[in-house]
Amino acid sequence: MIGAALANQLAPHGFSIALVEGQTPTDYDLSQTFDLKVCALSPKSAQIMQQSSAWDILQGMRLCPYKRMRVWEMDGFGDLTFNANQVGMLELGHIVENRLVQLSLWQALESHENVAVICPASPISFNRHGDVTTVVLDNGQHLLARLVVGADGAQSKVREAFGVGVNRGQYQQACLVASVNTQLGQQDITWQRFVTTGPQAFLPLLGQHGSVVWYHQADRARALSNLSHEELATEIMTHFPPQLGHIEVTAKASFGLQKQHAQRYYGEGMVLVGDAAHVINPLAGQGVNLGFQDVDSLANVLTHAHSKGENWSSKEVLSRYQKQRKLANSLMLHSMDVFHHGFSNTNSKAKWLRNLALSSARIPLIKKQVIRYAMGI
Ligand SMILES: Cc1cc2nc3c(=O)[nH]c(=O)nc-3n(C[C@H](O)[C@H](O)[C@H](O)COP(=O)(O)OP(=O)(O)OC[C@H]3O[C@@H](n4cnc5c(N)ncnc54)[C@H](O)[C@@H]3O)c2cc1C
Repeated sequence: MIGAALANQLAPHGFSIALVEGQTPTDYDLSQTFDLKVCALSPKSAQIMQQSSAWDILQGMRLCPYKRMRVWEMDGFGDLTFNANQVGMLELGHIVENRLVQLSLWQALESHENVAVICPASPISFNRHGDVTTVVLDNGQHLLARLVVGADGAQSKVREAFGVGVNRGQYQQACLVASVNTQLGQQDITWQRFVTTGPQAFLPLLGQHGSVVWYHQADRARALSNLSHEELATEIMTHFPPQLGHIEVTAKASFGLQKQHAQRYYGEGMVLVGDAAHVINPLAGQGVNLGFQDVDSLANVLTHAHSKGENWSSKEVLSRYQKQRKLANSLMLHSMDVFHHGFSNTNSKAKWLRNLALSSARIPLIKKQVIRYAMGI
């Protein structure tokens, strides 16, 4: 998603771009069941997609706007509902399938003759000589690049090949994700209830569909993902709040949770964006949104330097991007840590404090700021 988003931002500015992807995404068809991998796109991310035709294309596929978001703790007094109209917006964001975001960004690239999508293919080596890197692909192609962008996710080969280290940590929790059919009609609210074993969340999808996310101790999440669809539906309905209603599970998987931050975002002729640069706990649904903000920043830095006739692939130019994004991403990474540990703590004082924090966020001014921050506006 993030590599394709960057290609869309740069394409109108005269850069010659090759987008290399290892996995061919399946074409969209309305009759398809919903993918497991979904995310909550913030209005800021949508705004970035609107700068190309990608957003219109995505709207022609399927996505679900949500107007409200509720956060509360089981047996606590803190209970908070955010509403888009509190900041004069129509929605707080959209729940979308990751594959459809990627497909719509790819379709938008088709109108640019200066962009080549090379798929399926993977780089096998990078050799830097002078101002250019030769990238050898596993299909035998050789690419010459002034700048290699590592947008290849948490296990980034680009990051590794250019010798960038990471600071990494593993959470004790994992999360179980299930695609569900719900008995309830179209919903416009996403909610998250905090329980000491981990949050339980519901993300609405189009029609009577949704995504259930259940954070738990890693072995318990894995055990849940090994249940049959029927058994898992029963477990979820037993432990989730009644707001969920009756559900039917159609797909499921568990994901380990990690945090990871690249020690630097650029090197000689190389720059990192999205999960290749930072991986955060998905509990606030901000991972891909941080990636879109990287795209916005890097595209601005590169196009500005390009238009001024500067050496746009130089370290000096790339350092401007790092300056704009590394600290901001670090803050979000640490905030997620505080959330995670704060809400996992069973101490009664900690519980009182976090409920107080949730309650104080009801104060209109604070609430507006929290909404605006989460929306990226
Ligand atoms: C359970 C879970 C729930 C989440 N929920 C949310 C959410 O609600 N909101 C949110 O904002 N974020 C969420 N995230 C995080 C979000 O999924 C990531 O931040 C996002 O996918 C990062 O996008 P990316 O394009 O940087 O990397 P990726 O999505 O990892 O994409 C990397 C791409 O590079 C390709 N690639 C990798 N290596 C190679 C190679 N060697 N050769 C060729 N191609 C390669 C891959 O095939 C892939 O297409 C969630 C994450 C998890 C685990």
